[in-house]
Amino acid sequence: MSYSWKSFVNVIVFLFIPAALSAETDDLKLIDWQPKSQMVVKETRIHKPKFPVIDIHNHLGKLKNTKKYREEMDKAGVWKCVSLDARSAGDFHKEHLRVSQSVSKDRFLLFFKPDFSRIDEPDFGHKEAKKLEEAVKMGIRGMKIAKSLGLTLKDKSGKLVPVDDPRIDPLWVKCGELGIPVEIHVSDPKAFFTPLDRFNERYEELSAHPDWLFYGGQYPSKEEILGQRNRVFAKHPNTIFIGAHMGTLPEELHTVGMWLDRYPNFYVEIGARISDLGRQPYTARRFLIKYQGRVLFGTDSPPDAEIYRSYYRFLETDDEYFEPDGDQGRWMIYGLHLPDEVLEKIYNKNAQKIFGRISISEEIRR
Ligand SMILES: [Zn+2]
Repeated sequence: MSYSWKSFVNVIVFLFIPAALSAETDDLKLIDWQPKSQMVVKETRIHKPKFPVIDIHNHLGKLKNTKKYREEMDKAGVWKCVSLDARSAGDFHKEHLRVSQSVSKDRFLLFFKPDFSRIDEPDFGHKEAKKLEEAVKMGIRGMKIAKSLGLTLKDKSGKLVPVDDPRIDPLWVKCGELGIPVEIHVSDPKAFFTPLDRFNERYEELSAHPDWLFYGGQYPSKEEILGQRNRVFAKHPNTIFIGAHMGTLPEELHTVGMWLDRYPNFYVEIGARISDLGRQPYTARRFLIKYQGRVLFGTDSPPDAEIYRSYYRFLETDDEYFEPDGDQGRWMIYGLHLPDEVLEKIYNKNAQKIFGRISISEEIRR
């Protein structure tokens, strides 16, 4: 009887290697697996962005932190930051305005969040639009729509309120009249609308946040919600819409490009999606260059210099295979090393163009 060298190797593998690993790894669960990359790659530190930044997607509703927010913005070269937390409910927007303006007259831009809990009230749309108009006179600079619309928000009949519900029309019209943009976040990552099983690419975060899963009969499909949203874009061509999180379809940039081609009043922002963009760096780079006039900078993370720097590294450098700070999804990303002219548009020029409709220069002079 003779043994080949291969079977000898097999004996070694089966007998010795598991024995050596067993103590450490016998109970290792995938969820606990934290592999450390052995790649030695370039790491560029970018303290300040090449051009001043306007962060179009943020939440500054914890008013006691307002001073701290401004300090972090200063550290990271952020010129202006939009808070999407100026809620109409309970007139919180007034308090938010008062506190933000007491810390800085021109660094914070606040977006009004309509109170959809009153959707059943007669003439809801016109009343809320009137309130928005008054809020704009006080200093509000835009309107925010949160993802509950079309997904979980129900009226008293028990039916879901679709994004294109005609009761909301007066609000879209008013934004167009006032020349203020709508930051619209409807639906969520594709994986949130698929079963939570071994094929789900966001299994980890969905296990930690089961309430983020919108799969099942009680929820509309992602396509349905995006279809409702796009009908609003078509019906209100004089209103500017900024699609949060790359229009909530970074997984299919070609479709986002099609929408941008079809709806000239539509823009997108990159907030909390550099992980999705950075895992398809060739496509993302081409996309941002092609649509350089239609993409805005956003983070969706309360101002934190280190998180901003992770965004700058992603947009400005050609660093490879690094972890995005403060973003979702378990992916390593690749920098896009965008040309200066594209960077400047994404960092501030596109936002200035939108806000320019109500004169940003006047605000700077104050
Ligand atoms: Zn957000």
